[in-house]
Amino acid sequence: MNIEFSAEDEQFRAEVQAFLAEKLTPDMQEEARRTTTVFADKDLAMRWQEVLVEKGWAVPAWPVEHGGTDWTPTQKYIWSQECTKSHAPGLIPLGLRMLAPVIFKYGTPEQKAEYLPKMLSGEHYWCQGYSEPGSGSDLSSLKTRAEKDGDNYIVNGTKIWTTHAQFADHIFCLVRTDPSVRPQAGITFLLIPMDLPGVTVEPIITIAGDHEVNQVFFDDVRVPQSNRLGPENEGWTAAKYLLEFERGGGGAAVRINESIAELKNIAGAEINGAAPLMEDPGFAAQIAELEIRNEALQFQELVTLDRVSKGDSPGPASSLAKNSSVEIDQMVNTLKLEAINYYGLPHANMISMNGYTEAWVGPEYAETVTPRYINSRAASIFGGAKEVQKNIIAKVVLGL
Ligand SMILES: Cc1cc2nc3c(=O)[nH]c(=O)nc-3n(C[C@H](O)[C@H](O)[C@H](O)COP(=O)(O)OP(=O)(O)OC[C@H]3O[C@@H](n4cnc5c(N)ncnc54)[C@H](O)[C@@H]3O)c2cc1C
Repeated sequence: MNIEFSAEDEQFRAEVQAFLAEKLTPDMQEEARRTTTVFADKDLAMRWQEVLVEKGWAVPAWPVEHGGTDWTPTQKYIWSQECTKSHAPGLIPLGLRMLAPVIFKYGTPEQKAEYLPKMLSGEHYWCQGYSEPGSGSDLSSLKTRAEKDGDNYIVNGTKIWTTHAQFADHIFCLVRTDPSVRPQAGITFLLIPMDLPGVTVEPIITIAGDHEVNQVFFDDVRVPQSNRLGPENEGWTAAKYLLEFERGGGGAAVRINESIAELKNIAGAEINGAAPLMEDPGFAAQIAELEIRNEALQFQELVTLDRVSKGDSPGPASSLAKNSSVEIDQMVNTLKLEAINYYGLPHANMISMNGYTEAWVGPEYAETVTPRYINSRAASIFGGAKEVQKNIIAKVVLGL
């Protein structure tokens, strides 16, 4: 396998770099650099989305006739690499990258016409209603019920850990329409406006002090049957299809590289006894190990890119890459926390999280370390928990 990028790809990279240099403003870069939550702040993400929509680069993976690009998998990879390197805000993937492919595959022409343009323009803001209390990894045990009544479904139940539900005006939901069959066979995929009577959102404040996730309640919510995506009781197929896009992606190694560079800066500035922490052989060795593991991850991503470019699916590589990237990222955040010492105490964290920057007495680089450390713990749970990914690797790769 040749891992060099072609001359055309390098030319494309230069075009992307020129665009980012022109359109990505320093204040957007700075706000993105200070983001400690999983997703960027909604306003920031929407500002950047508007710029990208104007250029035609907001949704590279969509069909060209719907506003996508004709980029090759390599060009998409380069685009995501360059955005990360430039500290561009991430667009919110819930609608654009997760729901949209499902609408393309299972939506009616009316649903495509209604939802896709509004998702792209930002008129609709989506959240994901999959998980329930007691139904996360074991998603097919979900209990939210939808019973037919004339042209409507009456929905009752609750969804939990719903990211950005406080901002969303629509939620895509898995609901149980037939409790009498095996769990996977009785599930339906519904698109639900959040302003319907009976929908309420309660915030969940995480131990990092941020409000990113919520619990959503449905009390006798009347949802038109025309809001069903795909056939009744066949929602599980669409649900699994969507998860491929939630778990896929790639490009984590470049982001982690940036984070390792930050760690080295911190360790170079923090004094351990009489010398910078970076000169401590034990600490430097831990960083070196993470750099090596991250380089291996980067090669793994390139191997996957090669497969996808030849028309194959990523296969179990996405489970391997997810676990490796999360582990490395969490370790980098742990070393940063160790390096900043008492500036990482919870009190300092709360000052930083609540925006009382005038009360912050530590170095600027330390401000975001604790919230980011805490928030990164969630990554081994969402998008397929670590142990569940290991089960997949054991079965599919090791044949156990
Ligand atoms: C920050 C964050 C944002 C999220 N956003 C959303 C969202 O927007 N929408 C949404 O629908 N959901 C969301 N989730 C929920 C997420 O998908 C679930 O938390 C995840 O699927 C795990 O489910 P659970 O929380 O019920 O934990 P459980 O499934 O109960 O898992 C608990 C522990 O048991 C382990 N475990 C479970 N099953 C097995 C097994 N078979 N073998 C070995 N170990 C196992 C897990 O690995 C984990 O360590 C979010 C979660 C987080 C943390």
